[in-house]
Amino acid sequence: MIIAVDGPTASGKGTIAKRLAAHFGVPCLDTGLLYRAVGRQVAINGGDPDNEKDALAACDFPDALMEDDILRTEDSGGLASRVSVHPAVREALFKRQRAFAEQPGGAVLDGRDIGTVIAPDADVKLFITASVQSRARRRWLEMVDKKLDHEEEIPLSEIEKDVVARDARDINRRDAPLKAASDAMVIDTTSFDREQAFELVLEAVQEALGKT
Ligand code: C5P
Repeated sequence: MIIAVDGPTASGKGTIAKRLAAHFGVPCLDTGLLYRAVGRQVAINGGDPDNEKDALAACDFPDALMEDDILRTEDSGGLASRVSVHPAVREALFKRQRAFAEQPGGAVLDGRDIGTVIAPDADVKLFITASVQSRARRRWLEMVDKKLDHEEEIPLSEIEKDVVARDARDINRRDAPLKAASDAMVIDTTSFDREQAFELVLEAVQEALGKT
């Protein structure tokens, strides 16, 4: 069983994916972390994230980087969004994601192109979205909570600008742009809290699985 969870930045898809994985007892891959690791590795290498060769070289990042909290910062998210436009980077990360999706027993993957590119054969496809304002606010609260980026506290208006810029880059890139698969269930969580959003999603997934 493969469950694909896609959606824009800070839509809550990561939390939903982890909870679905726990509910069904299968592993979960946050594919955004792979792109964040590549972005961070470019910076470590002193390369340019907008240069395809530099970005491709950074796909060789050490596994330990995936555990580093620095990947959760806004800065790493911005770098990830820049390296993710390069087709060579997407290709380099494809195998790893596909292998994860195909493991026996099933998996949950969350990202931008899981339902469209990585696992078009997924049993359930979800596209989790919410308004720009509520996504920016959630991201901001999360950062305050975790004290990420605390060395320079970023105002909410800045986060909102960043969310808009990241959406634009993700939606408009030529290769694997952010979009709902034609057979995805689109769920807007703007007016729900985390718990309500998860309940709504779980119900939709159970119903979809019941039908397959
Ligand atoms: O989901 P997260 O915010 O961690 O993703 C960071 C960036 O990585 C996104 O803005 C997007 O550009 C890129 N990404 C992608 N494809 C994925 C997952 C993330 O292009 N499957």
